[in-house]
Amino acid sequence: MNLSTVVAIDGPAASGKSTVGQALAERLGYLFFDTGAMYRAVTLVVLERGIDPANEAPVRAVAESLTIDVKSSNVSDGRLYTVLVDNTDVTWAIRAPAVDANVSQVSAYPGVRAAMTVQQRRLSAKGRVVMVGRDIGTVVIPNAGTKIYLDATVEERARRRWKETQARSGGMRQSYAEVLAAMRQRDHIDSTREVAPLRPAADAIVIDTTMMDLPTVIDVVYGYVVGAREVQEP
Ligand code: C5P
Repeated sequence: MNLSTVVAIDGPAASGKSTVGQALAERLGYLFFDTGAMYRAVTLVVLERGIDPANEAPVRAVAESLTIDVKSSNVSDGRLYTVLVDNTDVTWAIRAPAVDANVSQVSAYPGVRAAMTVQQRRLSAKGRVVMVGRDIGTVVIPNAGTKIYLDATVEERARRRWKETQARSGGMRQSYAEVLAAMRQRDHIDSTREVAPLRPAADAIVIDTTMMDLPTVIDVVYGYVVGAREVQEP
């Protein structure tokens, strides 16, 4: 397994992980994989089937039974990638506020995490992948060649997410205060859960993006990846 070409990017919601990860993957010619989309897809199906997210056993059964695909896409509606669940396109459905509100509870279950982690490791085994999530550098691929942890204040992250939802046509509009409250709640559950809590790996490069624009963050992260490659390939 060549994990030196795996780039792990972790961090809280709206810290810029997906946009930075996507741009970086493009520049490096690597695959981009957003693991949050998998947890969101499980949550969406749980809600659609009328399963109570507080009920661990059926939630876990859903996670173990679904085929989730996150792949690059040519559809030009603002998406970074396409998410398929058992071949149905759920790319936008997984961004609904109801999914936001329940995804942290669903992803805290050990059985759900085990099922997703197996798929994520299989995907990274060939290397040349930028994998984005909460526990990639700590649990999923602890031997990744480069580990980045992107952070920003919760107010700034809520502002970014709120702007994003305002720009998107259709769907339910949330107020800034609602987005901020939901984000605080999700941060709390993600970082206090027992299995694979959100935190930087001891050897991760931590970047606070509160005052940085995206092109700068992308350049900085790219510099670290290229630097790490040079160390590994003398
Ligand atoms: O990154 P995104 O906001 O789409 O992630 C949605 C949720 O999925 C997170 O709040 C977290 O609960 C969960 N998640 C996780 N582990 C990952 C990626 C996401 O627990 N590697």
